[in-house]
Amino acid sequence: MYSRVQLFIDGEWCDSISGKFIPVLDPATEEAIGEVACVNTADLDRAIAAAVKGFRLWRKTSPLDRSAILREAAALLRRRVEAIAGVMTKEQGKPIAESRTEIFASADMLEWFAEESRRTYGRVIPARSEGVLNLVLKEPVGPVAAFTPWNFPVSQAARKLGAALAAGCSVVIKPAEETPGSPAELVRALADAGLPAGVVNLVYGNPAEISGYVIPHPAIRKVSFTGSTPVGKALASLAGQHMKRITMELGGHAPAIICDDADLQTAATVLAAGKYRNAGQVCIAPTRFLVQDGAYDSFVEEFLARTRQLKVGNGAEAETTIGPLANQRRQAALESLVDDAVQRGASILAGGRRQHNKGYFFPPTVLADAPHDSRIMNEEPFGPVALVSRFKDIDEALAEANRLPYGLAAYAYTRSIRTSTALAEGIESGMLSVNHYGLAIPETPFGGVKDSGFGSEGGSEAVDAYLATKFVTQGSPAVA
Ligand code: NAD
Repeated sequence: MYSRVQLFIDGEWCDSISGKFIPVLDPATEEAIGEVACVNTADLDRAIAAAVKGFRLWRKTSPLDRSAILREAAALLRRRVEAIAGVMTKEQGKPIAESRTEIFASADMLEWFAEESRRTYGRVIPARSEGVLNLVLKEPVGPVAAFTPWNFPVSQAARKLGAALAAGCSVVIKPAEETPGSPAELVRALADAGLPAGVVNLVYGNPAEISGYVIPHPAIRKVSFTGSTPVGKALASLAGQHMKRITMELGGHAPAIICDDADLQTAATVLAAGKYRNAGQVCIAPTRFLVQDGAYDSFVEEFLARTRQLKVGNGAEAETTIGPLANQRRQAALESLVDDAVQRGASILAGGRRQHNKGYFFPPTVLADAPHDSRIMNEEPFGPVALVSRFKDIDEALAEANRLPYGLAAYAYTRSIRTSTALAEGIESGMLSVNHYGLAIPETPFGGVKDSGFGSEGGSEAVDAYLATKFVTQGSPAVA
């Protein structure tokens, strides 16, 4: 399927000057399926120099032409969906149907950014004197360093590349080394669509060495990272030391508030789908299920029924609805988080223990009454674990929802407009979805507050993040 993933620098696919490679594993079998080229600083210098050259050309390319290339890349992704989805499932583990959905969602994303590139408007501010024009111009900020994770290898890269390219920026992108093949196919689609050499440069290697070299580099003007809060804080501090603009899309620990008056069938169906998608390795996955006393028993029963219907297996098999975790770190982390919660008094209602000898599998798990001091009630599990507990009134639910330093997504189910409004006003999160699942589409803002990050990767805000504002005031020359 793929044996060797190369770098893409200045319009050429190439190995590293170092000649080094990193093995890539199939998380369903733990077997090596290929390898990815591993950069050294000489490769990074080439990539940055190419991005500088690419920026000079791309910033002058008209938004109409940029938009045509992004649209063509979207069309190519759709046409190549079966091949790319196969690569993604093999390296990441998610069910093949989810891989296909991700490719189509990424194509939608590129199309949205193609449209937005034609709307990077400035404005005209009324002047205080006759003959003066006050102009606000929007300009691409410059070459960007982008770092994307392994949970959505293509769509996370499409969000960053789409917004940066729409704005007229060039990019050095480093996707995750664990899932290198599918984001390389996204870059291939852009190149095949006519993106000029140097505008997007793809590198892989040691993440800390790459970010430590690229972020301080004077040619790089903007840093965008998706990943964990600790790494995000480290990269944001480094960017701050060098006065680089940042977008940080970090971890979450989403509350899902289910009130007595909720449509419990819908709540259980929609929230179970959100919880177990991609084996729970989703920054916006519902995690703390806060259920009002009167709805608790029925909701938990409905949720458990949907949990038990899931079929754990190799994502390449059509009947699988939940694949393995993407790497061994997550499997070890989940075991330790669940054990800690159980030792402190939580009850396992489903799953909880590893069942396979091979592959990084973890069963869909429901834990009841994990105490506040258990690690899993404070650390992002990033896996298929739902934590259910009770609340009496909406103030109590809000206090628990806002207890953690995270603030990415939140969910609520209620038939009361009063409750819904109280939640909309009181919840400390970047996104709230009430009575349905409505997050993460290209045209709506996507991002967090507090420790969940800074900036938005959706909606018109996403392109703004790659634009600098220049003010030009122009008077009329005196007539000779
Ligand atoms: P991690 O923080 O080590 O890595 C997350 C991503 O960041 C990976 O793609 C990795 O290659 C990259 N990374 C790590 N250190 C880096 C550095 N110094 N410079 C540049 N990039 C670096 O964590 P992990 O074990 O891979 O994932 C576990 C945690 O990451 C989860 O608990 C979750 O909080 C978070 N995560 C979040 C998202 C998201 O969508 N926000 C995605 C993946 C992982």
